[in-house]
Amino acid sequence: MTEPTPQPLCPYCKESIQPKATVCPHCKKTIFSTDPGANAVIYLISFGVMFAVLWTGINWFAKVQTEQNLRDAQQQVDKMLKR
Ligand SMILES: [Zn+2]
Repeated sequence: MTEPTPQPLCPYCKESIQPKATVCPHCKKTIFSTDPGANAVIYLISFGVMFAVLWTGINWFAKVQTEQNLRDAQQQVDKMLKR
């Protein structure tokens, strides 16, 4: 027995769901889309956002480190000048 139209599957529990379902009736998880193309776009956007956050974090960390180094260097200079 074969189904005429492929039933979309929940990406989480792999149970068959309604084509327009936004919430899986089996595991109650939110389904953004059962279309692989749309999922790829969502993954791409998620990756872009994660990369942006990571990049911002690295830049912030580098900035903090540089400022810390500058403060340390300034303290070293102050110590040398006081001697
Ligand atoms: Zn499910």
